[in-house]
Amino acid sequence: MLPVVSIVGRPNVGKSTIFNRLIGSRKAIVDDQYGVTRDRHYGQAFWNGREFNVIDTGGYQPDETDVIWDGVREQVHIAIRESDLILFVVDTEGGITSLDRSVARMLREEDTPVLLVANKADNEERAMNATEFYGLGFEELYPVSAINGRGTGDLLDKMVTLFPEEKEEEENSIPKLAIVGRPNVGKSSFINALLDDDRCIVTDIPGTTRDSIHSKLTYNDKDYILVDTAGLRKKANVDENVEFYSTVRTERALQNCDVAVLMLDAMRGFEKQDQRILKNATEYNKGTVMVLNKWDLVPEKDSNIHREFEEYVYSRVPRMEYVPIISASAITRQRIHKVLEVADLVLKERKKSISTSELNDFIYGILKKKPLPVRGEVQLKIKYCSQVKSNPPVFKFFMNRPEKLPTSYHRYIENRIREEYGFIGVPITLRFVQK
Ligand code: GDP
Ligand code: GDP
Repeated sequence: MLPVVSIVGRPNVGKSTIFNRLIGSRKAIVDDQYGVTRDRHYGQAFWNGREFNVIDTGGYQPDETDVIWDGVREQVHIAIRESDLILFVVDTEGGITSLDRSVARMLREEDTPVLLVANKADNEERAMNATEFYGLGFEELYPVSAINGRGTGDLLDKMVTLFPEEKEEEENSIPKLAIVGRPNVGKSSFINALLDDDRCIVTDIPGTTRDSIHSKLTYNDKDYILVDTAGLRKKANVDENVEFYSTVRTERALQNCDVAVLMLDAMRGFEKQDQRILKNATEYNKGTVMVLNKWDLVPEKDSNIHREFEEYVYSRVPRMEYVPIISASAITRQRIHKVLEVADLVLKERKKSISTSELNDFIYGILKKKPLPVRGEVQLKIKYCSQVKSNPPVFKFFMNRPEKLPTSYHRYIENRIREEYGFIGVPITLRFVQK
């Protein structure tokens, strides 16, 4: 699991500016749920070889002090519960305020590690003046300028040292299937259908994590962990913050699974949120299966209707035809086992490994069929290739001038590899390197 860093502090100290600096050019996920009064952002960052998640819970309308304090307090409470590290941001322009003191008091009582960040230290003089913030009672102080980047490298160096140790992946760990999708598509119903099923054996697993509810299931003599991302939402009161963190949980479940089972509602089609989940699963190199749930509600199920659904979904997201789509019903239990069987196939595909000699024979063949182009004065040449990794699969191609390889040729190779070897439901990575 990637560490989670939350940014807290009073309004206008520069939290969102710091957030943007940490995630850099990567795109943030904006919480755009109905009824949300504040912008909240969630994104991934990378420093010294460590990836982590950053949460900016956004600004509060600066109307009444009481309201601000309630908002900040709530934000700090959730951050303490959900994060591995908290950045407590203060403003060197404004100096210490009573709100800063209250937040400091709350944070000092908790075990979650906290770094005190004095923002807007745009120059040496301001960085010197920041020392007044030692008055908040933290041992260390990080003066930074989110605007010009001053001090942010030191801050990041320190942050990375405070993350929990990365655990080696256990060789024989049980594969995790994350059941993800929009609210009300039937995730809980689907999981319950499997848990109640005669052909599935359910084992309790002690100490479920704070992120999601896990169930262990045996089907056809194989073990799986089902990760339920809906459960927590159901338990909680309807609350904006809880909603936001459940989006964050979906992301973490995706990052931490082997196969993402993206549930869609056959009556509602394919929407922006589905597209985002699908794209992110691919970005994290996870196996993916799509389930068109509530198939029982589809009238006139002739043989073409499933294909039409497939074409519709694939037309909304380019280059995803390798992701299998299963129509199912959590209520009538139609094809719920098929979902497990296809997820199992995807797990196998993800582990598939092709020998270097076989792969090279195959690649030479397809290079012959469609010769590499000349770019500038140079005839592009691929010398050899090998699958350097499986689970997820990565292929490395050694060639002259990799930077000149056209995208269309990259796709040509990927498409031929898929035709020949399948890799059903699995993103494959092709790397072209200089040799
Ligand atoms: P938030 O409400 O805590 O998320 O604060 P914002 O990130 O929206 O920033 C509030 C204001 O402070 C904006 O006008 C920013 O441009 C400004 N600001 C943020 N970081 C810095 C900084 O490092 N130096 C200076 N001079 N201004 C900053
Ligand atoms: P979640 O929010 O994704 O966990 O969705 P739920 O499992 O709570 O289901 C939302 C609603 O859809 C409930 O009223 C379910 O009874 C209904 N539902 C779920 N799966 C199916 C299905 O396959 N067919 C039909 N007809 N209704 C379903």
